Amino acid sequence: MPQKIRITRLFRKEVLALSAYKVADATGLIKLDAMENPYSWPEDIKNQWLESLKDCRLNRYPDPEARQLTNTIKHVYKIPEQFDVLLGNGSDEIIQLLLMALPPDAQVLAPDPGFVMYKQLSQCLGLTYHGIPLLADTFELDLPAMLAAIETHQPSVIFLAYPNNPTGNLFNADAIREIITKANGLVILDEAYAPFADASFINELPQYENLLVMRTVSKLGLAGLRLGYIAGAPAIIEQLNKIRLPYNINILTQASTDFALNNSDLFDQQTAEIRAQRDVVFAGLNELDGITAYPSSANFILFRTKKDHADSIFTALKNQGVLIKNLNPQGGLLTDCLRVTIGKPEENTAFLTALRNSLSAL
Ligand SMILES: *Cc1c(COP(=O)(O)O)cnc(C)c1O
Repeated sequence: MPQKIRITRLFRKEVLALSAYKVADATGLIKLDAMENPYSWPEDIKNQWLESLKDCRLNRYPDPEARQLTNTIKHVYKIPEQFDVLLGNGSDEIIQLLLMALPPDAQVLAPDPGFVMYKQLSQCLGLTYHGIPLLADTFELDLPAMLAAIETHQPSVIFLAYPNNPTGNLFNADAIREIITKANGLVILDEAYAPFADASFINELPQYENLLVMRTVSKLGLAGLRLGYIAGAPAIIEQLNKIRLPYNINILTQASTDFALNNSDLFDQQTAEIRAQRDVVFAGLNELDGITAYPSSANFILFRTKKDHADSIFTALKNQGVLIKNLNPQGGLLTDCLRVTIGKPEENTAFLTALRNSLSAL
């Protein structure tokens, strides 16, 4: 058959150059790779939830503004009154929306290592992305380097994950304030791990006109629903709303998230348990010869192996039925690094046992 279609002519060069975001298959494994909450709900809550879904009218389009859920979010998370909230199909979609709104010559800046979607989505849209290295030993912001990059590149958007993924730490809050003050563009505080940290910039929204705070319910315990939100000045949210697809939050997600956030005690217990287990895993990791764990304010821990051991430890863990995330292939500051999500106590014990076995087999 003659070739009618030439893939390399059909698609933008940015798209051709990308590789798709790969998710590992976790079938049959203890899943500690994706920062999910390991707990489900008690039967009676599940039944109440199912009851609340009965009245969803699946034949109708959902509320395009998801007003009820938006109000619940503003109320539960105490978003200051004068700010607007935009919902996304996961916070990933919000990152995409923001970047789609920028002019083609826009510059995007974030610390490196950071959340991979900032770079992936910037490059996909043909924007110029700058990753500014964190300090090697602490993964703290290199403030002079950040300020110099702001001066040179005049970024339209700066992403700061707080706590940072994949390093788990909270950046110095005064350094963040200086970055917001010096930036001429928007600064997005990505608080995906807020449920596991005792820090937030939500109350500082009124102080900076270029600050937006983004969150998600994924890490809290609702990853399957796909819901993120961003709070900021109405004049900014108004522009983002023009790009948002009208029905981006489906009716089951609207109803289920609203139900869940009205039962937020449930998550308080679960996140408290996860935070307590984080201490157990951190201590367990640092007891092991050849492992250095980094302090975390999130529901995962980054740890470093001895030189060139990360790949074989990752594989040995998987062969013992435990899936974590291998960051060594990303190189740079993440060379020899692995990341484990905090699971249930018995899963964490299984992980630490498997890791001990892997180390002694090296
Ligand atoms: C997981 C994660 C997200 C994406 O969250 P979704 O709402 O599930 O799309 C955003 N930012 C950071 C830093 C994350 O780790």
